[in-house]
Amino acid sequence: MLRQFELVERVRTYDTAVDEDALNRAYVFAMMAHGTQTRASGDPYYSHPVEVAGILADMRLDGSSIITGLLHDTVEDTDTTLEEISDQFGPQIAQLVDGVTKLSLLELQSENTKQAENFRKLFLAMSEDIRVLLVKLADRLHNMRTLHHVKSEEKRRRVARETMEIYAPLADRIGMQALKDELEDLAFKEINPTARASVVERLRYLREEGGDLVPRIVERMKQTLHETGLQAEVIGREKRPHSIWRKMQHKNVTFEQLSDIVAFRVEVESLTDCYGALGVMHGAWPAVPGRFKDYISTPKPNGYRSLHTTVYGPEHQRLEIQIRTTEMQEIADFGVAAHWSYRAGEDRASLQDGRQYRWVRELLEILDHASDPEEFLEHTKLEMFQDQVFCFSPKGDLIALPRGSTPVDFAYAVHTDIGDTCVGAKINGQINQLRTILQNGDQVEIIRSTVAAPSPTWERFVATGKARSRIRRFVRVKERDEYVRLGEAILERGFAQADCDMSKKALKHACRLLKLRTTEDLFAAVGLGDVTGMQVVGAVYPEAVGAGQAEENLPRPRDGSAGDHAVPLRGLIPGMAVHFSNCCHPLPGDRIVGIVTTGKGVAIHTIDCDMLQQFEETPERWLDVAWSVGTDLPEKHVGRIHVVVVNEPGTLGTITTLIGSNNGNISNLKFTNRATDFFEMHIDVEVRDVRHLTNIMAALRASPSVASIERTRG
Ligand code: MN
Repeated sequence: MLRQFELVERVRTYDTAVDEDALNRAYVFAMMAHGTQTRASGDPYYSHPVEVAGILADMRLDGSSIITGLLHDTVEDTDTTLEEISDQFGPQIAQLVDGVTKLSLLELQSENTKQAENFRKLFLAMSEDIRVLLVKLADRLHNMRTLHHVKSEEKRRRVARETMEIYAPLADRIGMQALKDELEDLAFKEINPTARASVVERLRYLREEGGDLVPRIVERMKQTLHETGLQAEVIGREKRPHSIWRKMQHKNVTFEQLSDIVAFRVEVESLTDCYGALGVMHGAWPAVPGRFKDYISTPKPNGYRSLHTTVYGPEHQRLEIQIRTTEMQEIADFGVAAHWSYRAGEDRASLQDGRQYRWVRELLEILDHASDPEEFLEHTKLEMFQDQVFCFSPKGDLIALPRGSTPVDFAYAVHTDIGDTCVGAKINGQINQLRTILQNGDQVEIIRSTVAAPSPTWERFVATGKARSRIRRFVRVKERDEYVRLGEAILERGFAQADCDMSKKALKHACRLLKLRTTEDLFAAVGLGDVTGMQVVGAVYPEAVGAGQAEENLPRPRDGSAGDHAVPLRGLIPGMAVHFSNCCHPLPGDRIVGIVTTGKGVAIHTIDCDMLQQFEETPERWLDVAWSVGTDLPEKHVGRIHVVVVNEPGTLGTITTLIGSNNGNISNLKFTNRATDFFEMHIDVEVRDVRHLTNIMAALRASPSVASIERTRG
């Protein structure tokens, strides 16, 4: 185990300004906190955080990262609280430790790694500070190095699979090649020990058979480069068993070529030297066509830069060669962790040219502007998946949603049926509103009811297209139901008026004549006003419908505003799925509009009603309707007037008499204000139409008892 002074020394080699006192205190703190706890190996537990800190020091990370490494398990596994850590080491360290703890809790949920990609994204999204992720990766690396001590095979395999599917790709994504290789190989050892053993055995055999082949080639390459005056290091590096194995799986062949086993690396001092060295290599040995790749002018998304080529080498073997600067090598090994230690690098600007993830670009921008490495790391936020949010189902499945999603989006993402029947949601065990915005890592349980249906109001807050289209579709179907009911009622009345039988046969006949598929289609067409009731009756029983009667039932737009699909209101009354709204008390003669309401059929409003504002965004619910004109209407409608009368004996009698003598029937009268001089009141009067009401109002206005009068809404 790394001893206290050794750790401090290791950090001091690259960061002379590190807060040694804090490092020492953290070391002791971890030791005390974990006390007599032990690991599977029998070692004291605190050896683990100390080794993790050592790995972080190998990556040359800042003091805060090392301290976080030492403390990373204290909150989860001991009595230590975040407050204590904050008191002792400051809020920033507490925040980092908290971040690592959260990732560890997440890890416990990730039993099934089917959704590895989502987990990787979740990890990145939750590691708001890149140091959190780096500590977590170092933690995993040490756990993998000591995995063989764990007794349960099942646990070993689970951890190994998780490493292979989540941690190694994460390390790759942030460009930490060395870490990725080691994690993969350790996991490979557990997951497929036989395959690994055979690869290792084959490597040993080839090494022995080839003798000093690799060192000979290295020497030849070095010599060739030096002859041209280039300063270069050449290294022949055996590939890891796992990457050889993957290649074998991929190409479905056994490995025979040297280039399958060893990668030669040429390390030079400057970017121009990279291309110089490439020229020398291609000049000395023929290049294998199609194998040259320039990751310097076009870096990989994780920031990796290098030239790759394959040549037929001096011993007539295919040689895979990677050419890069020492800085590029550091970045290839340590990825983002290397960037901050290379703040002083000369050709950093060219790093920004490539197609890199936004956050990598941001890393580099911060790198350029931060005054010291510490500040750089502090301000580094992983932005890559900030536009997504990841939530768990009760079974532990991970659902990726766009940021701003709600439980309704979640429900629809799981299954359409769940969305259609959801009535509520538990988020992390607590009942919450359906409009609640979900956060990363939330566990969401949808409460369902079989009688529930999507509400049109959900459309206002859902974030996913799937939820929105489903809600819209449902509203449309619902609307059609309303039209079908409407049309059926219109037809019933139409047939009754014509004294004809509305038999199934008659309806089928009408469908054929009108080229409609089903009776339901016929009802819907009538409800929509595409066909009038009398047209249908007339089609089936031409003799029963007189010309005048049929004419009367045709829609009659009052002033063109009512359009082609006017519903002949006269046919709808009474008992139809239509009602006159109480907000504006439409009267025959008023310009009106119908609004399809869920459950209540069509509501008729006057065209100037304030209530219509709330339907402005749903034009599909608006129906053009008009009053039938001509013959007198059997129904009475309520008109509401606001009257101010002089407070004198007999005034009320005068008012009611005037209304009565004009054939109006008072259905309701309510005082809204009683002052000493004047009374104010609302009077509801049953009238035939607007003209009728206007007459009554004119009569009242003529009375000396009335100070003012107007028609009102509501
Ligand atoms: Mn740990």
